[in-house]
Amino acid sequence: MPSEKAKDNKALVATCAACNKTQSTELMVSLAGRENGRSQQFAVCITCADNGWRPPGFNGVYTFRPR
Ligand SMILES: [Zn+2]
Repeated sequence: MPSEKAKDNKALVATCAACNKTQSTELMVSLAGRENGRSQQFAVCITCADNGWRPPGFNGVYTFRPR
């Protein structure tokens, strides 16, 4: 398998809390929710957020982002 040389500016990636896909953080948003009684940030991709996914205990406001 040919190995591709890493790009100079290595993209930051994170796993979407909703669909479990690993994506560039530029395509993700962080939503505040609660888990086990503690506030926590959930990283989800914009696609999931636009589809209406919200973390448990979500009490913030999600603003749609231009792509
Ligand atoms: Zn997602």
